[in-house]
Amino acid sequence: MKLERVIPFAHQLLEKAVSKGDIAIDATMGNGHDTVFLANLVGDKGKVYSFDIQKDALLATKDKLTSLELEAAASLHLCGHEHIMEVVPSMYHGKVSGAIFNLGYLPGGDKSIVTKAETTIAAIEQLLQILSEEGIIVLVIYHGHPEGAIERDKLIAYVENINQQEAHVLRYQFINGINNPPFIIAIEKK
Ligand code: SAM
Repeated sequence: MKLERVIPFAHQLLEKAVSKGDIAIDATMGNGHDTVFLANLVGDKGKVYSFDIQKDALLATKDKLTSLELEAAASLHLCGHEHIMEVVPSMYHGKVSGAIFNLGYLPGGDKSIVTKAETTIAAIEQLLQILSEEGIIVLVIYHGHPEGAIERDKLIAYVENINQQEAHVLRYQFINGINNPPFIIAIEKK
């Protein structure tokens, strides 16, 4: 298949935005795949701030980073992404070049613990304040579970109304897939 699949496309966007020495955010660390991906992009002179509300997610991410000798590149936080601005030091506000949200539930974990539109939107609003110019937020939206469909609708309504003077908003989606495959919303700050 020549068309880029959703997760590789999300990573391509982050590769465009995030360079060595940068500050980046994994808003939903889960099993740590995106934290590892971002840690490799920022290198040992940069920092990834990663968030999750589940201790299992933090421990799984910590193990992955340690086994790859990447732990110095990441700062893991057992708290909701709606606290991003409190956690990311103020000297880095305006300097965050990329952020990713992989929404939904922790694969292999408790499916009743899911991301919610209210907190996701609160985090996006904070990120729009602390992103650098041309910084990118990538949302991977999983809408195959009932809460996911609710979150999708609220998020779409929110991002469609982001002022075009403030950011470009892109939707990347395969629209004929069965079982509600995930899709991407990318927001690039102007
Ligand atoms: N990116 C992850 C990976 O590489 O494995 C997958 C993330 S998983 C789809 C979604 C995660 O979001 C879950 O681990 C869940 O605990 C977490 N989550 C739910 N609400 C959250 C919140 N308010 N802030 C941060 N994380 C949250």
